[in-house]
Amino acid sequence: MKNTFELNKILRPHIISLAPYSSARDEYTGHVGVFLDANENPYGSVTEEHYNRYPDPYQAEIKQKLAPIKGIDPSRIFLGNGSDEPIDLLVRATCTPAHDYVIIMPPTYGMYEVSANIHDVKIDKVLLTPDYHIDTQAVLNAITPFTKIIWICSPNNPTGNVMQQDAIQTLLENFNGLVVVDEAYIDFTETPSWISKLDENPNLVVLQTFSKAWGLAGLRVGMCFASVELIKILNKIKPPYNISLPAQQALLRGLENQESKDEMVADILTQRAALHNMLEELSLVIHIHPSDANFLLVQFEDAKAVMDYLIGEQIIVRDRSRVALCDGCLRITVGTQAENEVLINSLKKYQQTSVIV
Ligand SMILES: *Cc1c(COP(=O)(O)O)cnc(C)c1O
Repeated sequence: MKNTFELNKILRPHIISLAPYSSARDEYTGHVGVFLDANENPYGSVTEEHYNRYPDPYQAEIKQKLAPIKGIDPSRIFLGNGSDEPIDLLVRATCTPAHDYVIIMPPTYGMYEVSANIHDVKIDKVLLTPDYHIDTQAVLNAITPFTKIIWICSPNNPTGNVMQQDAIQTLLENFNGLVVVDEAYIDFTETPSWISKLDENPNLVVLQTFSKAWGLAGLRVGMCFASVELIKILNKIKPPYNISLPAQQALLRGLENQESKDEMVADILTQRAALHNMLEELSLVIHIHPSDANFLLVQFEDAKAVMDYLIGEQIIVRDRSRVALCDGCLRITVGTQAENEVLINSLKKYQQTSVIV
């Protein structure tokens, strides 16, 4: 099989012909005038800040600022209510419930499976290899005429590693559906983004987020980069005002402050190395998986006991020990130097009390 991708062949037919909701601010896009078109409150808001006007449905100002940062035209950017929104919209646009399939590669981010389940879309699971890479041949074998999306997470959550470039390229070239590369942790790796490969690969979709490196998880803004045609479809099926006004305002300020993101990322990378070194010294740690993200996947002799002990100390990490290929593993987010030391001191205390003499 060789790629003969055509967007209209993988979109659900009713989505192609769908007439979108036309909001007041779609029909008139000027900024000055007497606005009596959207049934807003003309006096103001119950808060000090004024939120009485609907926000820009397409976030033009943000995309204008974001485009040069990402090296892509604004027409190829979609912004959503977290990455969760484009994940959901991509499934809705392409997968007919109880009929179509997506491929996911456990262990990976949980939302790909959840959003398929929400829409009653079928899932083919192809496990990563034991060293957490894509099993390219197994994925190719799993593709059927009903497969619409292959979900790839790179760097992968919860394993922390970057997926092989040649494997992703092979899937792009041999699959007529969408290959989505979720790059939520791209700022923590030297590996370049797949955004630069969008031109050559019409079936490639790249997801990023403001929730991790940018420190804006509470704003709920995710990014999707794709062909102009696919972005138009996502815009057509999204809720009209999916990014709130305060989120848009905060994001505009944040984009002026890229250096602050870079400084925080540099600190997190320093702390990641320090945490790795400190964990390595502990005898209860069996293995620390190499990480290109802002967390470490750590295998313990008795993950459940460690997890319970840490909770007693009010230190919360993520138990991944029951996830495929992650036996005995806890996922530990890299904290500040002080937080990481609290964790390490606690683990040392646990180690001492659990040694039976
Ligand atoms: C954290 C994370 C996201 C971000 O989700 P948001 O909805 O943007 O907060 C996306 N993908 C992966 C793999 C993640 O780990």
